[in-house]
Amino acid sequence: MVRLVLVLGDQLTPDIAALAVADKRQDVVVMAEVMGEGQSVAHHPQKIALILAAMRKFAAVLQAEGWRVAYSRLDDPENSQTISGELLRRADAFGASEVLATRPGEWRVLRDLEDLPLSVNLLEDDRFICREAEFAAWAEGRKQLRIEWFYRDMRRKTGLLMAGGKPVGGQWNFDHDNRKPAKRDLLRPRPGDVVPDAVVEDVLTLVESRFGHFGRLRPFRWATDRAGALAALAEFVAERLPRFGEEQDAMLEGEAFLSHAVISPYLNLGLLSPIEVCRAAEAAWQAGKVPIAAAEGFIRQVIGWREFVRGIWMQEGPAYLERNELGHGRDLPAVYWGGETRMACMAAAVGQTRDLAYAHHIQRLMVTGNFALLAGVAPAAVHEWYLSVYIDAFEWVEAPNTIGMSQFADGGVLGSKPYVSSGAYIDRMSDHCGGCAYKVKEKTGAGACPFNLLYWHFLNRHRERFRSNPRMGQMYRVWDGMDEAHRARVLEGAGQLLERLDRGEVV
Ligand code: SF4
Repeated sequence: MVRLVLVLGDQLTPDIAALAVADKRQDVVVMAEVMGEGQSVAHHPQKIALILAAMRKFAAVLQAEGWRVAYSRLDDPENSQTISGELLRRADAFGASEVLATRPGEWRVLRDLEDLPLSVNLLEDDRFICREAEFAAWAEGRKQLRIEWFYRDMRRKTGLLMAGGKPVGGQWNFDHDNRKPAKRDLLRPRPGDVVPDAVVEDVLTLVESRFGHFGRLRPFRWATDRAGALAALAEFVAERLPRFGEEQDAMLEGEAFLSHAVISPYLNLGLLSPIEVCRAAEAAWQAGKVPIAAAEGFIRQVIGWREFVRGIWMQEGPAYLERNELGHGRDLPAVYWGGETRMACMAAAVGQTRDLAYAHHIQRLMVTGNFALLAGVAPAAVHEWYLSVYIDAFEWVEAPNTIGMSQFADGGVLGSKPYVSSGAYIDRMSDHCGGCAYKVKEKTGAGACPFNLLYWHFLNRHRERFRSNPRMGQMYRVWDGMDEAHRARVLEGAGQLLERLDRGEVV
C-alpha cells in the first residue's frame, strides 16, 4: 500500500523522521507550496522565497536519491492551496490512505493534520537534541524552569566543551567576557551574498506576483540549499565567530550583522543540524582560532536557548499563544510596518527588518520588543509581527521568544523578569542616540526619549506584580526616591505619548 510522506518547508533534512521510516520503493513524498501557509500571517517576501526555493531544491535532491516526489508548485492550476487539500488530492491520485508526517513546528498545522480524514502517523521531530519526553522529565517538579541548569545538562549530554565530565576552561558560562558595546572602526566581514540562480529567480518572480506583504524581496542574498548553508557556516566560524560573544548585544547604525552567525534560517529549515554547527564552533576553539568565550557563547545559544524555548513551546501547548498576563491590549503602532518615526533606534531596527528580513536578537529584544512591552501592545499582535517579518521565525522558536522572553506575557514561565530598559541601555549598547530627534539624557518634556518615559510608566502601572521581584526591587527604590513632582511629569509625559500612539501620530 502506498503511503504519503509529508515533508514541510522547514523539514528539509534528508533523514527527517518521516523519510527515515518511509520506503522509497513504494511511498510517495508530498511537498506543497500553498497560499494557505504563505498567507497564514503576512510573511516577509524574502522568507517566502527562501522557503519555496529551498523546497524546490530539496525535492530535486530527493528525486536524485530515488524518491517519488509529488510536488505542488504555488502556480499549479490543480493546487488546492492548503497542505490538507494537497494531501487529500495526492491520497486520491495514489490510492493512499496513510500519511507519514514529522511533527510540525506550528500548532495550527498540527491541528489540520489531526483533522484529516486519513490515517496520520505523526513522528517526533528528532532533529532536536532534547526530546519531548526528556524535556518533560527535566521540567517535572521544578518550581522554575531556568535555562542555565538545562544548558548544563545539554552540555553533559552532547559532551560539547566538556573534559572528564567537567566544563572546559573551568566554568560553564563565559558571559562576563561578552556583551560589550561595539567599536565602529573594526572591520567585520559581512555574510557573503549568494547570487540567485535560475531556481531562485523563478521563485522571486512568483513571490513578487503573489505577495504584497511588508518587506523588500530584492536583493535576495540567502543560500537555498545545504551546500550554501554549509558555506555560510564555514564563513561565520572563520570570520565572525572570534568576536561573536563580545559583540552579541551591540548595535551599530548601518551594521546589520556585526559578528552574528546569521545561520538561524538554515538551522530552522533543516539545512544545517544543531549539533554540526556546535561541533564546528568547538573545533575552531580546539584549533586555537577562537576564544573560549566566543565558542561557549555560541554553543549556549544553540544547545541551551534554542532547545530550551522549543521545550517550553511543546510543554505549554497552543494556549501559550494566547497568554497575556500583563493585560496589554494596545494595537501595534504603525512604525512596526514601516510607518514614520522620530526614534532613531526603532527606525534602524524596522528599516533593516524591511530590507533584510533580519535583525539580531538585541534589536528584537531591547528595541522593538522593549518598546512594544513598555507601550503595552497586545502580545498576540507582537507575536504575529515577529512571526511575519523575520526570515528565521517559526512558531516553535518565535512564540516563546516573543510571548515569554520579550513580552513577559506568560507571567514568568520562561524568564524571571521582564526585559525592559530605559534609553540608557540603548545608548550604552549602540550609536543610535546621537542621531535621534529625542534626547536620551532627557527624562521629561517633549524632547525626552520615549523609552525613558515609558519605562517608568511600565514599572508604575505593574507595581503590584513586580515590586517584590528580587531583580526589580532596586528600580522601584530608585523610582520611589524621585521627587514627587518629577514622577508626575514622567507619568504625564508617558500618558501623552501613549495617547499620540493611539491616535496614530508619529512618535
Ligand atoms: Fe532610541 Fe531614545 Fe536613543 Fe532615540 S534617544 S535612539 S528613541 S533610545
